[in-house]
Amino acid sequence: MNEVYDVTIIGGGPSGLYSAFYSGLRNLKTKLIESQSVLGGKVNLYPDKILWDVGGLTPITGKKFLSNCITQGLTFHPTVCLNTEVSQITKIAGIFDIRASNGDHHYTKAVILAYGSGIITPNKLAVDGAEQFERTNLHYIPNSLHAFRNKQVFLSGGGNTAIEQANELLAIANGVTLACRSNELRAHEHIVESFRNNGGTLLLETQIRAFRSNRQGEIEAVSLSVGGEDRTVAVDAVIVNHGFASKQAIAFGETLGLQFNDSNFIEGSPDSTIGYPGIFAAGDAIAYTGKVNLLVGTFQDAVNAVNSVKQYLNPTAEKHAMVSSHNEAFVEKNKQFSL
Ligand SMILES: Cc1cc2nc3c(=O)[nH]c(=O)nc-3n(C[C@H](O)[C@H](O)[C@H](O)COP(=O)(O)OP(=O)(O)OC[C@H]3O[C@@H](n4cnc5c(N)ncnc54)[C@H](O)[C@@H]3O)c2cc1C
Repeated sequence: MNEVYDVTIIGGGPSGLYSAFYSGLRNLKTKLIESQSVLGGKVNLYPDKILWDVGGLTPITGKKFLSNCITQGLTFHPTVCLNTEVSQITKIAGIFDIRASNGDHHYTKAVILAYGSGIITPNKLAVDGAEQFERTNLHYIPNSLHAFRNKQVFLSGGGNTAIEQANELLAIANGVTLACRSNELRAHEHIVESFRNNGGTLLLETQIRAFRSNRQGEIEAVSLSVGGEDRTVAVDAVIVNHGFASKQAIAFGETLGLQFNDSNFIEGSPDSTIGYPGIFAAGDAIAYTGKVNLLVGTFQDAVNAVNSVKQYLNPTAEKHAMVSSHNEAFVEKNKQFSL
């Protein structure tokens, strides 16, 4: 822990992973810190979605895209700390002291803030004893919808993403019941129609009262109030899609003087500088005129952030790295690819 790194990247989403790759390319001793137990950031929220708008890639699932990002991010073997929530950054005697909520300190000469919209957690269900079923068949962020093939699925939620998820499930599940607390869905009319037309069961003004479990500790039925009347629905699995809460967990010492916009993103510049020497930002965390909040935007930010770190640490260093096709860093690695 006392080792001092050249750069520590906070956040293991697409911008943090690409920063880790690029800082390896620039020969920087790199640490990557991520609060979750897995790398990948927000893309973990849409593993089965098909991405069409990442330059140079033909349509690819979120999961496959992430797997590629992770492989690339680990190319130069950065130190990776998972389950580590950064809570504070201060600077002492020229070195940044990054404190984690578990009390650990991480020391570094420069920092890249790649924390996106902060730590994202799904809004949980307020039903007695619901937590115990998270180990079995109550899901907030399913790893893959394919796990619900041939099952009776009960889905709670009323927004666009919940109904899109319900529509995708209709194609593979035995049956899908979509329950919403209000008397109308907050979603585009055409996807609601699609759900109805393809055999989905829609329950409005519906509250989950309780779960009944079987001997394996799985939910086998959901007790509901539907428009004030009691009803019970037999299920194989329950998905709750009630949106997400995000928390920006880092306390920046006042001396760092960082500025945040109305949406709590850091005010910065396209070169990733944010007004304090040695701290840079990339990806969704940073806002500037012309900023693109897309995956492709995270890559450009990451390159700029790493190049800024390099120059901060060594003002005589090249401003930009050599392109990968002609970069010595890949001479040995290239031998595994035959022409
Ligand atoms: C539903 C949805 C669909 C999308 N679809 C597309 C699409 O089709 N095409 C496209 O280009 N873009 C899409 N996006 C946008 C894209 O996902 C984001 O632009 C991208 O994920 C931003 O990457 P990032 O690394 O900057 O942030 P994030 O992906 O948010 O990653 C930030 C990481 O930092 C971690 N972190 C936060 N705070 C701390 C802390 N204090 N300590 C340690 N770690 C911390 C978080 O846990 C997270 O893993 C979509 C976004 C959503 C939500």
